[in-house]
Amino acid sequence: MPAMPPTDPPAPGPDPDAAGFDPGDVEFDPEAVHAKYLAERDRRLVEGRADIRDLDRDAYFARFRSDPFTPRIERDPVRDEVDVVIVGGGMAGILAGANLRKAGIERICIVDQAGGIGGTWYWNRYPGVMCDVESYIYMPMLEEFGYVPTRRYASGEEIRTHLERIAERYDLVEDALFHTDVTRAEWQEDVGRWRVETDRGDRVECRWYVLAVGILNLMKLPAIEGMEEFAGRSFHTARWDYEYTGGGPDRPLERLRDKKVALIGTGASGIQIVQPLVDSAEHVYVFQRTPSAIGIRGNRPTPPEFADTLEPGWQQARMDNFQAIMMGLDVDEDQVDDGWTHNYAAIHHPRLAEGMSRREIAQAAEAIDFEVMEAHRRRVEETVADPATAEILKPYYRYICKRPCFHDEYLPAFNSPNISLIDCPAGIERFTARGLVVNGTLYEVDCVVYGTGFEAERTPLFRRAGHDIVGRGDVTLAEKWADGPRTLFGLMTRGFPNMFTMPAPTQQSVVTVNYTQLAVLGAEFVGRTVGLLADHGVDVFDVSARAEADWTQGIVDVFIDASRVMSACTPSRINNEGHPEEASPLAGNYGGQLGDWFGYRALLQEWLDDAGFEGLEIDVRSATA
Ligand code: NAP
Repeated sequence: MPAMPPTDPPAPGPDPDAAGFDPGDVEFDPEAVHAKYLAERDRRLVEGRADIRDLDRDAYFARFRSDPFTPRIERDPVRDEVDVVIVGGGMAGILAGANLRKAGIERICIVDQAGGIGGTWYWNRYPGVMCDVESYIYMPMLEEFGYVPTRRYASGEEIRTHLERIAERYDLVEDALFHTDVTRAEWQEDVGRWRVETDRGDRVECRWYVLAVGILNLMKLPAIEGMEEFAGRSFHTARWDYEYTGGGPDRPLERLRDKKVALIGTGASGIQIVQPLVDSAEHVYVFQRTPSAIGIRGNRPTPPEFADTLEPGWQQARMDNFQAIMMGLDVDEDQVDDGWTHNYAAIHHPRLAEGMSRREIAQAAEAIDFEVMEAHRRRVEETVADPATAEILKPYYRYICKRPCFHDEYLPAFNSPNISLIDCPAGIERFTARGLVVNGTLYEVDCVVYGTGFEAERTPLFRRAGHDIVGRGDVTLAEKWADGPRTLFGLMTRGFPNMFTMPAPTQQSVVTVNYTQLAVLGAEFVGRTVGLLADHGVDVFDVSARAEADWTQGIVDVFIDASRVMSACTPSRINNEGHPEEASPLAGNYGGQLGDWFGYRALLQEWLDDAGFEGLEIDVRSATA
């Protein structure tokens, strides 16, 4: 069993992640809490809050997508025929590639808009960037590579380097097409191949097509009046402009010494950037629409003896231990032992007494949620010296409403003399050439950093893929999935032969906080399935109508309409920005709610072990959809 790293140095304020934290003498008065939470929600539930500038179509802001990290090199168009094209060189794509190699596949071509390997970890190089799931379970293939992360939460640089290492070892780089955007993929019925076209004029034919486009690949830029008028520098966190700021992800941003900087957004990205900005800039204005719940991170170096205690199978066991706790299953010990396993798990799976009614269960869950949120608010109060600032930083909503954050330097940063927190629950009023206006006050700045996140979770795959995917009968994936996904296992869809979609939230598989675990599972499935098909001499497979209908019906049957609870939430990605009722039952998970992780994995493994391709039509080149 792996040894746990030593305990943290004391973090500022009480620990809201400590199991059984006592919120003190604060009574849970449900009516008062509901009223407060709803009032805070209503301050944020304003028209246009979800409006974005679509960077695909926005001539002015399209430049936000350029790659500041790797120069683009002109090259001749490629004409090639390969076994597999994988769209996306991030974690999912690389893992799929590695598993395809293990299955003996020779020609693999990764296509990515980025200038190199890494996906999210290629693009997000902002100061302070780290994973917020423990690196020992977040960084894949640690055991195979004999690599032990240097810290409990690794830096973006360390994660990217590790992904590059995997890609190198599995020879996924040489044939990759970087700085290349797929513009169209079309199934060629006559030859049983996909034809993939790109913005570089490439035409690559492949037998198998894998969509590993990621869930955080589309930057979200809000639509705020007058944005174009701003005369200073501006960029999104996923394209950090070190040429302007100087420094690096872990080095001072020395060119900001005489600069006033605005940071918009206080989610998982924004909160990591605040301390580095405060350390470097003349003044920092943090524009906060909704405060995040900031739990303890407790980062620390990996103790040298950690590696010595690891036994074969340790990483899978640790991942499973985390996942079991997150699903409310009994385990002997909590190996990861962090804010996720304490709070997230406790709130989603409250301990119940026998014979409790549904109403009592809901009340118990709400009481735990209140305790945890009260502890978070207490942490703010005891960390931030100015009571008015502290009050603005307190999250007044249920823990289940937003993805929680974990950080130990963010809250103390508000005690610095060169930071101002600007409360803007209804968003930023407008821009002028000199800065941003909130409540009629102009905040003059030299630079604006958009920490406004990504089109995650609810953005359909065909939009994230960003190109027409044309299957049998000239039907596009966008047409087929217009009202929601229809799949087998969330990994294949009828009418799109020989195509795999890596598992993702709202795509009929399961959801995990540790996305790596899902990527590992999807990649193993793709690798083994292609290997089996090749072994059996199958040129073409498609999902049978029956299998897809059954899988999809299975998802719909267990879909729980949580819109009543979620509509009381502060608007967020999780409740579709205040409109949870719009969630399609088709966009659910196997087993309902966040999904039955272990059941799903067992089902995939059985299917692979059986090797009977149940639910697939194989060698069906002449069939019609
Ligand atoms: P995010 O969580 O969606 O946060 C975006 C922030 O921008 C929110 O604070 C949002 O306010 C604010 N915002 C959006 N539009 C605005 C507007 N018009 N005016 C003012 N504020 C506005 O995005 P993120 O921080 O990039 O994180 C996205 C996801 O990426 C995370 O949930 C996580 O899954 C992943 N992530 C992980 C890590 C990590 O592992 N450490 C780091 C970064 C990201 P509201 O809250 O009011 O919407």
